[in-house]
Order: sequence, then structure tokens, then C-alpha cells
Amino acid sequence: MKFKYPEDRQFFLNLLAGGDEKIFDSEYSDYFDFRHPAIKRWEFNKISKKVLAGLIEKYGRKCQLRIHPDCSMTNIWHPDHIIPLASAELNRKLRHIKNNPDGSKPESVSYGSNHLNNLTLACEKCNLHKKHRIIWPLGITKA
Ligand SMILES: [Zn+2]
Repeated sequence: MKFKYPEDRQFFLNLLAGGDEKIFDSEYSDYFDFRHPAIKRWEFNKISKKVLAGLIEKYGRKCQLRIHPDCSMTNIWHPDHIIPLASAELNRKLRHIKNNPDGSKPESVSYGSNHLNNLTLACEKCNLHKKHRIIWPLGITKA
């Protein structure tokens, strides 16, 4: 996996595989796709309906994030990229790049894939609450 920044690789290695390189490379390479986010979004738009139907079938109407107090209240469902397609979070967290003077976020870095392993079911509330943050959802017990 070709990360743009080695510290990002280290971050995900710790988050997903508890620092185990072998597990990280063998079990989590599907989660990443470093192409331009616009390409990934374009590809995802074509499959998102089908993906959502598959996720509802897999999980029932049960939010896998459960991070908002009003979780599942609206009964509206979204496919959620566990590793975001792109995020500026690590620019801030690891490289300490501040927001731009106009308040806009620093440039985001491409990370997540549209692979089914990287997709989970989220209610509208949790999906909006998560935004582009990188969290390992409670509902996922793989690692
Ligand atoms: Zn939820």
C-alpha cells in the first residue's frame, strides 16, 4: 500500500491492526484506494444504491456506527466509508497543518476504497455526525 505520508501508514497500522504489519498488509489492503477522491466518488455513485441495499440486507436496519444520541431515529440509511474516501484529519493531527486563514480546511488526503469491506451501514444522524473523521466503528469487531 502506497501511502503518501509514512506517518499516515503508521496511524492506520495502529488503528486497524494494532501495529501488526503482516495483518495490516494481508487483511486491510482492500480498505484503501489512493486514487483521486473525485474518481472514487464517481465510481461509488454508480453503485451506491446497490451497496445500500446489500448493507441493509446484511445488517438489518441497524446502525453500525452508533455515535450520535439520536442514532437511528430518522430511519434513513446511508452506506458509510469506514476509512473515509478522503480526509484532512491527519494533516491536522499528525502534521499540525492548521485551517486556512479563511477558515477552510487544509487539503484532504485520499485514503478509503469503495470495497465492500470498507463499507458499513450508518443511520443518517451518525453518518452526518461522523463527516470525514477517521474512527473505527463500535459495530466492527474484526481486529
Ligand atoms: Zn446511528
